[in-house]
Amino acid sequence: MVEKLYFSYNHIHKLCKESAAKIKEFKPDIIISIGGGGNIPSRILRTFLKQQGSKNIPIQVIGLSLYESLGTGSYDESQIGKEVIRTQWLDFGALDQHFDSLIGKNILIVDEVDDTRTTLHYAVSELEKDVKEQAERLNRLNEDTKFAIFVLHNKDKPKKAELEPKIIQDRYYAARTVPDQWLCYPWDAEDIEFHTEQAIKQGYN
Ligand code: 5GP
Repeated sequence: MVEKLYFSYNHIHKLCKESAAKIKEFKPDIIISIGGGGNIPSRILRTFLKQQGSKNIPIQVIGLSLYESLGTGSYDESQIGKEVIRTQWLDFGALDQHFDSLIGKNILIVDEVDDTRTTLHYAVSELEKDVKEQAERLNRLNEDTKFAIFVLHNKDKPKKAELEPKIIQDRYYAARTVPDQWLCYPWDAEDIEFHTEQAIKQGYN
């Protein structure tokens, strides 16, 4: 079994194009990209979601990092978990001014890979909380805000966090489901020629 899977820029472009055909049914009003891995897929996807005569879908970036954390304070390997830290979040003031509020919108969250699902779970639940608070404040609780997810790859493995069934069933778009291996993306490559050669050899070009 190969240890690492390599994906070329071309391959990723094609995955975004193929997925956009399905994501169009969701009709996203805004893309929320989990940076940095979600940024290039978000931008490519936007090209294929654009409808003639209408504006480009805006992209907002949030930053999340996974840190090792000790659950109990005592040193025990089994207690080590992953904690999500916000490094960048939405500026709701600016968003309201230049776009609109997120209330009642179709929001597409984009990342490159769904590994343990910890990050996606955090992003959806925190954004839902923010929108709910805003809707309560503005007395707009009757409007339906929908979240969907797009990832290039979903790793076929037990997840450490859940997503709501309605998202998983109807609004979870993973271009490919892959085995639990390390995935190498071109934007991380120090030697892009070597990276692309590996991707071609593995059939991911
Ligand atoms: P999670 O475990 O929360 O689903 O994934 C968190 C983050 O870990 C992803 O957004 C991604 O940045 C990183 N990650 C997990 N698996 C891989 C992988 O196979 N390759 C790369 N490049 N990043 C990964």
